[in-house]
Amino acid sequence: MSKPNRRAFLKNSAALAAGTAVLRNAHAFATPAIATTATTPLTQFDYKDVQLLDGPMLVQFQQNHALFLGLNEDSILKPFRQLTGQPAPGEDLGGWYSPSSLFDPPKNMTGYIPGHTFGQWLSGLSRAYAVTGDKATQAKVQRLVAGFAPTISEKFYKDYCIPAYTFDKTNCGLIDAHQFAQDPQALAVLNRATDAVLPFLPPKALDREEMKARPHKNISFTWDETYTLPENFYLAYQRGAGPRYRQLAQRFLEDDTYFGPLSQNINMLPGQHAYSHVNGLCSAMQAYLTDGSQKHLTAAKNGFAFVLAQSYATGGWGPNEGFVKPETDELAESLTKTHNTFETPCGAYGQFKVTRYLMRVTGDSRYGDSMETILYNTILGARPIRTDGVSFYYADYNNKAKKVDYDQKWPCCSGTFPQLTADYGISSYLRSARGINVNLYVPSRVSWQQGSAHASLTQNTQYPANGDTSMHLTLSHPERFTIALRIPAWAGSKTKIMVNGNAVDATLTPGAWANLDRTWKDGDRVELSLDMPLRLAAIDDRHSQIVALLYGPVALFAIEPGARTITQKQLLAAQRIGNSSAWEVASDAGKIRMLPYPDIKDETYRLYQQT
Ligand SMILES: [Zn+2]
Repeated sequence: MSKPNRRAFLKNSAALAAGTAVLRNAHAFATPAIATTATTPLTQFDYKDVQLLDGPMLVQFQQNHALFLGLNEDSILKPFRQLTGQPAPGEDLGGWYSPSSLFDPPKNMTGYIPGHTFGQWLSGLSRAYAVTGDKATQAKVQRLVAGFAPTISEKFYKDYCIPAYTFDKTNCGLIDAHQFAQDPQALAVLNRATDAVLPFLPPKALDREEMKARPHKNISFTWDETYTLPENFYLAYQRGAGPRYRQLAQRFLEDDTYFGPLSQNINMLPGQHAYSHVNGLCSAMQAYLTDGSQKHLTAAKNGFAFVLAQSYATGGWGPNEGFVKPETDELAESLTKTHNTFETPCGAYGQFKVTRYLMRVTGDSRYGDSMETILYNTILGARPIRTDGVSFYYADYNNKAKKVDYDQKWPCCSGTFPQLTADYGISSYLRSARGINVNLYVPSRVSWQQGSAHASLTQNTQYPANGDTSMHLTLSHPERFTIALRIPAWAGSKTKIMVNGNAVDATLTPGAWANLDRTWKDGDRVELSLDMPLRLAAIDDRHSQIVALLYGPVALFAIEPGARTITQKQLLAAQRIGNSSAWEVASDAGKIRMLPYPDIKDETYRLYQQT
């Protein structure tokens, strides 16, 4: 190697300086730029740490990933180009997504929110890249950000009915493109997008009554959801977008009509829009995580408890997208009055997020119970989004129910579905200071650094078809740590855990974690056998005769029940049909077949039986 001359030295210094800049950026991508204030008992894994293995969750993740990876980029960008007067090649996606003169709310929702799901698709693809490392996915994210950048203009939001709603999703997509797909311009693009929307946002978050009191062009202008903005503003701040994002987050915390009452355990939810208020609880969680606000943590905990108290046996909530009044017949009446019972992909996405936050912060495993209830009884039974935008939206819990797709293409639920399926992995495990917590029993592998050892845990399971899950460990060398297994609150007394074939001598408390603290070594096996009793869940305390049958976390739906009546005793005597997921109940008028929600196709079904 020759001695470097001065010219080479200067060149190397420049390269070194550039290299430092690159390194700084890489570091900013790898870890949040701003540490959060609150320390939490549990933390999240990175997307790459958890891989789903063969099973229905992997199928849903791959379907959504493939669909949005294949979606035409000119079509995705078209509404932004059209509304800002630029050449806009490509086909219209249609439905809610493309501007349309047909829009006439609430009669005709065609053309409702042009470009609304763009940010969610960007987010879903960014997270899918973080899970898979697929370079084509990263390249698509970066092309979409580059294509979106020149369309940023205040013109886009002129006469736009719900600017905060769409911007919140755009914000999420750009900060995910930055964080998970290493997009070098995403934060700069976000800054310009924020400048463009700010003139169209009110001074503070408003509820629908306050929106109605303002002049509005038509009813859709009163539907904006400014109260969901803080979560992504806080995340933008944490990821290095700058201090103004923390100020914006604080400005849009809806304390007077929402978090204030909830923090005092006042249930302000009845009559409010359901999904956006569950999603809004995530803003309260970020106010706690970023600003240390105990009041907002209390608000989120209380708010979620109010939601649970009016949930169906499936974990779903919010008939006709609204919360009902407690101590009334409203929930029971929803079984005959509506088919639009639970907004499934959005609702499940909101519930996964808020339960993940609450589990991280409180360490309480029962938030995981509610996550798995939503998983097995709602979203895993959602029909896939079709390439033409036809999407699944409402689960139907009417006494005469059918599974149907939504009548508008590309609705809100086509935005949350790919985000949710990309989050399946990071929802399945959490990290603790002592080791790892297994939250969901799903075919998957988690890899992590435990002390000085490389560790992985692989689950092999058919759960919840039966209660058995076997876990296999690999470790580069023995290491002492804790594997905590979630024992659901419904688990029966025969639940047991074996390590390397030997029963573990530990009290297993339903509704808590079972902590297995030992020196683990390569090849160790853990077998969890959950006792899954049949049980009944009444729709609420006022209607103890209206019940759903559950097997462990799984609600069983009566298939083609017609007018047949059934007793609680008959329900609890249900018999499994062979090894299948189907059950049979003997009623006075003959046998009734019962199926889990994911197994229902076009049959008429009934969730709640009048007994
Ligand atoms: Zn939706």
